[in-house]
Amino acid sequence: MRESFFLDGTRKEMGATIFGDSKGNLSLGNYGGHRSSSEAFDADLEGHDFAWTFSSPPTAVGDFHTHPYKNHVPATFSGADVAFQINAGLNFSVVQSEKAQWLLLSTAKTPKIRVNSNDMHLNAAVKNQKLMSLGYNYTDAEIKVVADLAKKYHMVLYEGRGGVFGRANY
Ligand SMILES: [Zn+2]
Repeated sequence: MRESFFLDGTRKEMGATIFGDSKGNLSLGNYGGHRSSSEAFDADLEGHDFAWTFSSPPTAVGDFHTHPYKNHVPATFSGADVAFQINAGLNFSVVQSEKAQWLLLSTAKTPKIRVNSNDMHLNAAVKNQKLMSLGYNYTDAEIKVVADLAKKYHMVLYEGRGGVFGRANY
């Protein structure tokens, strides 16, 4: 990935969008998204940059971003990340934090609805705190929260390392 730090040394999330066409060709584009900060990545889902790569108009099928946090690592999907995937109707998202990777796959049963991203993000953070008060470490608490969201929205959570993923059982 490109620079994961701002010029002043602040960490920033990096990412890109994965596009596909009707023949199943995939391509990574829109590096850096609309914007990113130390705690958010805003994926650009428009296939404007490289329509020429595909035989048919490219569709955003997934996104990828990093969680390069100083504390609380490795960090899996946030509530806002899950909300983004549902609201954008993406097939999958991948997040990387240190050497840990997670993949969240939507299924045919994932509802095509709009969820409130702020509420989902806040509720996830509250549940995370609750689990930590019960003895979970940050990463495991976050995974449990995302696994519960995945169950609720008929999504499947995978854990990976080096691009090799296995289903997460929680
Ligand atoms: Zn994120």
